[in-house]
Amino acid sequence: GNKEEIHIPQLIENVQILMADQAAHKAVEIQTKFDHKDIVLVGDETKIKQVLINLIKNAIEAMDQGYIMLWVKDLGDYIHINVIDNGPGIPKYIIDQIGEPFITTKESGTGLGLLISEKIVAGHNGKLVAESDVGHGATFTISLPKS
Ligand code: ADP
Ligand code: MG
Repeated sequence: GNKEEIHIPQLIENVQILMADQAAHKAVEIQTKFDHKDIVLVGDETKIKQVLINLIKNAIEAMDQGYIMLWVKDLGDYIHINVIDNGPGIPKYIIDQIGEPFITTKESGTGLGLLISEKIVAGHNGKLVAESDVGHGATFTISLPKS
């Protein structure tokens, strides 16, 4: 993939704007939170953007109303981008199978979004981790090294 400078807070704000309408149709509000105003990574911006869109779309599709929080944390050698929602959460058998293809609970789902997202993050030497408190929401953590 491409290797370019990605200004993470700017990317997050762009994605927030890009997805706002789709979220509003479900009475979902996308919020952002940054620990630092400028965090730069090297990688493929289009692909990282695709990961965020995949995760946000899944959250919107899972919810009838609520919020999605995009929270960027600077941890020194790496960053975390948390995509947190307060939807119904993710059944354990889905979490256990993240990374396998065609796992979906949707009638017309492909079950490829998380698989592709995980591969993109791994391609940046990072990790995608899903956690869920069923009934209370889901949190996806994109962990990416700074170099
Ligand atoms: P698809 O969206 O086509 O079903 P994905 O790989 O994007 O495929 O997601 C797989 C499954 O993971 C979804 O069908 C859904 O059951 C579950 N899932 C993913 N994100 C969330 C979320 N934020 N809340 C609840 N369930 C989720
Ligand atoms: Mg999906």
